[in-house]
Amino acid sequence: MTRRRTGMETVTTAVLYKAACPDCRSRFELASEAIRLAIGASDRTTFYSFTCPDCGAAVRKPAGERIVELLTGGGVRTLRLHSTV
Ligand SMILES: [Zn+2]
Repeated sequence: MTRRRTGMETVTTAVLYKAACPDCRSRFELASEAIRLAIGASDRTTFYSFTCPDCGAAVRKPAGERIVELLTGGGVRTLRLHSTV
């Protein structure tokens, strides 16, 4: 019996996040390295940012609890804005 490789090898474990640019309205996928997450003292100051690969705009979007969980779980760089707890 011969076993054939299916070709479904795990080449990379990189996580891709779907994002859209509010400026040029293009949609794309971003690797975790392309995103920065900033966690502030409240929901209002918690956001993630990235640079649009199409138009180069700096995009900043509010990050809810779920998004924070998703991003940190994927290895996105996290910056904590409030140093005093
Ligand atoms: Zn854009």
